[in-house]
Amino acid sequence: MSSPAPVVMKFGGSSVADLERIRHCARRVVERAAVQPVVVVVSAMGQTTNQLLAMARALIDPPPARELDMLLSTGERGSMTLLALAITALGRQAISLTGSQCGIITDHQHGRARIVEVRPFRVLDELAAGNIVIIGGFQGVSYKRDVTTLGRGGSDTTAVALAAALDADCEIYSDVDGVYSADPREVPDAERLDSLSYGEMQALARAGAKVLHSQAVLLAEERGIAIYARHSRPDVTGETIIRKNPPTRPGVRAVASDGSIVTIRLSLRAGSSRHVPEVIREFAPLGLRYLRIDEHGATGFLSLAQRTDGSEALARLGAFTRSLGRDLGGIECIEGLALVSCIGSGLEENPEAMARAYESLHAEGISVREAHTDSHSLAFLVACEQRARAVQALHATFLARRPAPR
Ligand code: ADP
Ligand code: ASP
Ligand code: MG
Repeated sequence: MSSPAPVVMKFGGSSVADLERIRHCARRVVERAAVQPVVVVVSAMGQTTNQLLAMARALIDPPPARELDMLLSTGERGSMTLLALAITALGRQAISLTGSQCGIITDHQHGRARIVEVRPFRVLDELAAGNIVIIGGFQGVSYKRDVTTLGRGGSDTTAVALAAALDADCEIYSDVDGVYSADPREVPDAERLDSLSYGEMQALARAGAKVLHSQAVLLAEERGIAIYARHSRPDVTGETIIRKNPPTRPGVRAVASDGSIVTIRLSLRAGSSRHVPEVIREFAPLGLRYLRIDEHGATGFLSLAQRTDGSEALARLGAFTRSLGRDLGGIECIEGLALVSCIGSGLEENPEAMARAYESLHAEGISVREAHTDSHSLAFLVACEQRARAVQALHATFLARRPAPR
């Protein structure tokens, strides 16, 4: 008889935040391992990654990217080992492996590496030997044999990559029982969505809903992996499935926001426009989200995941212009902005949705600095102080629960 397919279970930082929760995950994993082979991916415990980052920055800011990756990867090493010990204490065989040991090969971009290949031989051997395999998420190894990390929230991507390599299901456990129509911490009447398409989920992740990492969703789409988002407590039974072509109708399905946006405006001098491609490449590592280029210059905004000021962007561009040995033009940097997005399907062909969104923001006295549309999102750039109100207003307009018919 052929053995059942393995499953990848990923537990996020909040689910392994202390020893009690680690014991709890261990019990869940052991129960599951009675039915099928289990590979577990873990994040670092609680706030560990933030604490490591703060320590590095206290010593040198910005920290050199290679050393930072080496440091941050230790967070997941801690949690994976503790979970392996907790499982062993329950009488089951378990082994912990780093990203490098389990064959996650990435490119060289420290801090935002992309997985180029997964060689899961060690994982398969350990499963065959009867082990539950616990893998440190968020990390890999480059061809230069340096440890790399996949960007904040990247353990989701580790889980999807392993599920693809092992032909396994991918279950992501966190402190929320699925994907909601808005962050349930911020919008109490947000509702859980039963299913989302890859495109919708990716737009939601990119718009700032951190419940799933956008790279993970992209990879899941490429490899045809369904993602089951669930709560790490077994008594909370809801779930959201992210998969191809779920039953859906056009329109707004969720609202998300990103409160750390910086707009960069470059007024190009005559004859400088040929340098625009290089400028784009300079900004890309900082999280360039959108760029508009016209005869007079280039305007773009950056989503600075870990920083709230534009100093790094300005410093980078300054160094770049100096290296060119010529003045490209004036640069202006506007900080303190937020991008608030309505996510769904068919939105670029929906001027009525755009009109309703504007109405609801104006009714709250919120001024929109810029608006952008694509097939999965309507996005509004507003002042940071107005972010939360904008989210509430848009959610109330498009997604408020209708009273049950009597
Ligand atoms: P983990 O540590 O398990 O990876 P995260 O903190 O990355 O979990 O993601 C879960 C959090 O995402 C939730 O606590 C919730 O506050 C937040 N979140 C933001 N937007 C949404 C949304 N639309 N649906 C569900 N959760 C969301
Ligand atoms: N520990 C990493 C972070 O905090 C990766 C993850 O949690 O997925 O971003
Ligand atoms: Mg996460």
